[in-house]
Order: sequence, then C-alpha cells, then structure tokens
Amino acid sequence: MTTEKKSPAKVKPKTKTKAKPATASPKIQKAIDVATKAHAGQMRRNGEPYISHPLAVQKILTEWGMDEDTIIAGILHDTIEDTDLTLDDIKKEFGESVAFLVDGVTKVSQARSGMRDLNTYLPETRDNFLRLLIALGSDIRVLIIKLADRLHNIRTISALPPDKQKKIATETLEVFAPLADRLNMGQLRVELADRAFQYANPKRYQELKTLIETRNKSAAKTIKKIEEEISALLKKEKIDFEISGRAKSIYSLHKKLAKYDQNIDAIYDLLALRFIVDDITTCYLTLGLIHSLYTPLDGRIKDYIAMPKQNGYQSIHTTVITPEKNIIEFQIRTHEMHEYAERGLAASFYYNEQKLTENYRSGKIQHLPTNLLWINELQTAAAKLRSGQKVDLGKLKLDLFSDQIFVYTPKGDIIALPKGSMPLDFAYQLHSEIGGHVVGAKINGKMSNLKTKLKQGDVVEIITNKNQTPKDSWFDKLFTRHARQKLRQQLNKLTNQGS
Ligand code: MN
Repeated sequence: MTTEKKSPAKVKPKTKTKAKPATASPKIQKAIDVATKAHAGQMRRNGEPYISHPLAVQKILTEWGMDEDTIIAGILHDTIEDTDLTLDDIKKEFGESVAFLVDGVTKVSQARSGMRDLNTYLPETRDNFLRLLIALGSDIRVLIIKLADRLHNIRTISALPPDKQKKIATETLEVFAPLADRLNMGQLRVELADRAFQYANPKRYQELKTLIETRNKSAAKTIKKIEEEISALLKKEKIDFEISGRAKSIYSLHKKLAKYDQNIDAIYDLLALRFIVDDITTCYLTLGLIHSLYTPLDGRIKDYIAMPKQNGYQSIHTTVITPEKNIIEFQIRTHEMHEYAERGLAASFYYNEQKLTENYRSGKIQHLPTNLLWINELQTAAAKLRSGQKVDLGKLKLDLFSDQIFVYTPKGDIIALPKGSMPLDFAYQLHSEIGGHVVGAKINGKMSNLKTKLKQGDVVEIITNKNQTPKDSWFDKLFTRHARQKLRQQLNKLTNQGS
C-alpha cells in the first residue's frame, strides 16, 4: 500500500484523479432496495446482515470510479445464486446490460468452484472453464465486479473457519492477485496478495513483515538523506515533483527471495523512492539528474515509458549506488502513469467511460489502454464460443495468468502449474505418492517423453506402478520447487531406510 508523502515542493491539486462522488442515483437506490429485500434474513459469518456485503462491493466499485451499470450489478451480484430473484426480474427492473453483468458474475462463481478444488471430481469442469472464459471475455466489467467481491471477502476473511480461509487465500494468490496484476491494478494486487498470504502462510508472513520493518527502520536515515539530496537538486532545476513512498508487498518479497536463494542482499528494490512529475520529458530529465548524483548499476535501468509492460505499466526504473554504498531504486513517472499503475483498468474506465460504454454497446472494444490487447483477443474468442464455433484453447494466447498454465487431468480437473512444468511436476502436484511411482505419461492421449514441457490446455494422464521408486535422475525432469522438494524428501527417506 502506498503512503503518499507530499514533498515540500509545489503540489498540484489532483482534481482529475478523484473518484466520482458517491451519491446514489435513483437507479442505484432502487438496486439497494431490491437487494436488501431479496437478502432479508440472510446473515454473513461475522453476524452482520448479508446485505452489508453487496453494499461494501458497491462502495469499492464507486471508489474505483466504475460506471452506474457496473455498480448496480455489484449490488445485485449475489441475488441470482442466493435469493429468489431471477435474471428475468433483473432484466425487467434494471435492463439488459445490468442483467448481462449479473449473469456473468454468477457464471464465474460457478466456474470458479471447479478451478481449485482438486478433491471434487466434477466431470463438467472443463466446460466450466469455458464458461469462465465466456463470462470474462464477454465483458471485462464482470471481472472487475469479481475483483471487488473478492476484495471484500478477503477483508472479512477472519470470520471464516480455518479450512475455508486457506482455500480462499490460496485461490486469491493464484487467481485473483495475478488478475489484478494483468489489469495493472497495483494497489489492489498488493492488498489482495498480502491479506491472502497472511492466511496462506502465516509464519512466513510474520517473518518477512518483521524483516521489512527492521530493514526500513535502519534505512530510514539513509532514505531521508537521499530524498533531501535529490529534492534539492530538482528544486534548483525548477522541476515540480511529488515523492511517493512505496512499501514493497510482503508477498512479492517472498516470491523474489525464492528466486534469489533467500539472499536478501540480492534484492535491490527493497529501498525505493518514487518521483512523480508533470510530463514525460521531465521524467527523462529527472533520470539524468539522479544519475548525475549517484552511479547507476549496470543493466538496471528499465525504460517502461518507451516500452510499457504488457499490462500497460509505465515508469522509468533505475537502481543506483550512493557514495555511502547504499543501493536504492528510483521510479520516475508522470501523474497519469502513477494513477494508472495504482488503479489500472479501473482508472481508464474513469477516463474513457463514455467511449468504452459506447463500444460495449456496439460490441467492440477499441479504446483500451496501451497493451491490453489480450482483452480483445479474449473477447473475440468468447464471441466465437458463444456462437457455437470451435476455438482451440491451446492456440488462444490467454495471457491472463502470465506465468501460469492450466492443464487437465483425464477427468477434467484443472491443475495450475508454472510455465515450464513437465509431466512429473504435474504428478507431484496431484500428490507426492503419485509422483514417486511414475513410469510414464500420456499427453493428449499420446505416450510422451517425461521431459516434454506442458502447454496450456494439455490433458495429462500419469501412469504409475507401485513397484517404481523415486530416482536421482528425476531432478532433470522437474521444474517446480514443490516437486523438487518432495523428490528430495523421498530420496532422503529411501537412503535412510537403506542404511
Ligand atoms: Mn459476493
């Protein structure tokens, strides 16, 4: 979460970044009345009346600056599944567009339940995934309502029993936080990930939280000195700027540490300062001034302004070393880029609402922000699926989950794996007992080499034999940490038994 710190320099009023006032229009008030009546008598786990949940979703969507139809659909999002209200009722009262969104959200909930739960063998899971695609692809606002729904659910997760907490936390880390990232909703991604991580791995969360706090404390003086040095220089050059401190997400630190063998000294962006300036030219000017004071580290200058990330993120990053040998990362961006990095797709809705709404009505999206073309791709695929045409899911470059692929068991369960995984990873993911007894694998019905990299949409069948034992040579055929860890444990156990 970002804590805004205003620099002593002149601060521009942020009028255009303010969310719309939360006055309930007559149509929104009507939705509140309908939902309140429909959910009457229902309670949440924390003892509050159920309506508190849809109202919280309404508040979140309003803060995100979403359009009226989306807010109304947010208020009604649980009525089809949980109350006597029907889609026809909603259509009659609120029109086609709201009904379409509510229907989409309901379908995602139904599909989702098949996505993570490896123990329930639903034969129709594969179709559910299609339904999820169709629902998501049909209107991206469905996804934004789902994210608001999930945000409130994770904010109130403490009232749930432990097993449900774990399940929701894991799903949030694996599906919803990456989704927020794909939509460049930075603030949301950090909140979802850190709240979920707290429940998915409480011990590690506390450890890293303490680590970050200790580090920040000892670095506070350094940061302040650097901040003052740069501020003085920028003021001398008559550059208007704001400084925004940025706390690194605990979950992303956890993931980074795993990449760097738990060596915290290899992580250069623990200390970071963000400078927000008026325009792009000033961004580059600021970069030059920073480099005139401190030495940039080789290969650590990233120009995401000239080359935005796939989710549309723009900024310049540079890591420098100070004369006192402190390593610190600078991020430089304009106000618009900052707004977009924090609020992502929701921010563009606010800026382009009129245009976007028109385009939705006419069935096309053209004015999506930079590099969100995957949404178009998804939308085209969804339209084809809806009209009964065949779409090869493997060929569909579905980049919703940039570092994950989804593969299927022969029964249609969906297993999420990191890109680069092989059949043995899949087997260990199902169960380490299965992993330990693998003799072969069929991919899409064909016997395949165990070193084959799995692709999005593959159906993987694992062939086991109870006489098979885990082998040292298997490390070459494993990609995931999880599987390597399990194999190591199994090998250790075998050696101990043998001696
Ligand atoms: Mn809900």
